[in-house]
Amino acid sequence: MSEINRAIKGTNDILPDESHNWQFVEGKMLETARLFGFEEIRVPVFEHTEVFQRSVGDTTDVVQKEMYTFDDKGGRSITLRPELTAGVVRSAIEKGLVAGALPVKVCYIGGCYRYEKPQAGRLREFHQFGVECIGAASPNADAEVIALGRQVLNTVGIKNISLEINSIGCPECRKEYHKALKAYFEANVDELCATCKDRLDRNPMRILDCKSPVCSSIAAKAPVVLDYLCNDCKEHFEGVKAHLKAQGIEYTVNPQIVRGLDYYTRTVFEFVSGDIGAQATVCGGGRYDGLISQMGGPQVPSLGFGMGIERLMLVLKNQGIELPEKPKTQLYIAALGDKASLKATEYSALLRDEGYSVQTDVCARGLKAQMKFANKIGAKFLIVLGDDEIEKGKAKLKDMADGSETEINLNEIVEDFGEAIRVQIFKNIAEII
Ligand code: ATP
Ligand code: MG
Repeated sequence: MSEINRAIKGTNDILPDESHNWQFVEGKMLETARLFGFEEIRVPVFEHTEVFQRSVGDTTDVVQKEMYTFDDKGGRSITLRPELTAGVVRSAIEKGLVAGALPVKVCYIGGCYRYEKPQAGRLREFHQFGVECIGAASPNADAEVIALGRQVLNTVGIKNISLEINSIGCPECRKEYHKALKAYFEANVDELCATCKDRLDRNPMRILDCKSPVCSSIAAKAPVVLDYLCNDCKEHFEGVKAHLKAQGIEYTVNPQIVRGLDYYTRTVFEFVSGDIGAQATVCGGGRYDGLISQMGGPQVPSLGFGMGIERLMLVLKNQGIELPEKPKTQLYIAALGDKASLKATEYSALLRDEGYSVQTDVCARGLKAQMKFANKIGAKFLIVLGDDEIEKGKAKLKDMADGSETEINLNEIVEDFGEAIRVQIFKNIAEII
């Protein structure tokens, strides 16, 4: 197959059969976010490369290996967003949101781009729903953001998804931890992969997130950050747990979670599914108290999460969860001959104007082919218009489900597009369909 007929590796087309499910899921995401006071923000698909280098972090896999970076025609280094937090934070600072009333609660849905090895649940273009709560320091903010994530998963019907939480402390208590971690990994340095050897000096915590089997088995026995938390971070973590309990949210503390992006502080969490294989994390997030100031804004503690929509769809599929059916075309008007075709156009326009979904032949096909098509698209009702029907001013409205037919009066539809005629149409057709 030539390249013009082939999608780029690691990308998916969302076909008409699936897009309805996406609309449903995305609708639930935005609706749920609204219940918590989060409003949608839309930011560009690309940013200056530095936006991601500064926020996601130079030592992360995302920045080191996975970014789609190119020079534009003006010679600027541009990167397709690998995640949305960086762009949202850039926008919140640049557009002055962080200078207004806090917290700023925003959510987003959008494509992300990472040059990764495509496999089940891992794509090069994928989509995230996410939220950011900027300017909230209290532990109940963490619990609220986690609750929002859980409610989205519940609302779309997902079951058996576990919440794992951890605290990775603040830069202060992490100093001690880094020392301990470095000492531990130095003792095992020969076995580490080349990337992790490099990480040892720059950011030993990244080794905990390495996907190589040898590194992860070494990492499994490494000192855990929870043992190194300062009093403030401990207290914060206890607060988060208390606020989760207060709303009946179950969790397990998993000291291994560090998350793949550098900007996290204190609380980190993941929603993990046992139903989608190795790429099991559907949602990951946490606190990033230093990010806004690191990006040139004020010192405002913040947090958020990103939820992979493809992975979420996979959970729905693998759990056999049925989503609402795609709405079918309500009426198909089959037309025989030019005169009837004009009438079909006229009636379709009237009915669509009133919000009914109506289709008519646009391929100059014969009656049989039109009926076949009406069947194929699952139209609920059918009208056949020919010279005879138009002359007599009567046609049959067929209920495709049971084959029953009702005679309807056409003459009253045609002459006028006025209010009275609309009423008549609905007596004839719309009330039935
Ligand atoms: P992973 O450990 O699976 O690589 P990550 O730590 O890189 O995930 P984040 O950057 O926190 O993930 O992104 C949040 C969510 O976005 C993930 O939990 C996952 O659901 C989804 N996600 C991340 N990368 C991909 C990808 N390449 N393809 C599909 N979904 C992804
Ligand atoms: Mg990743």
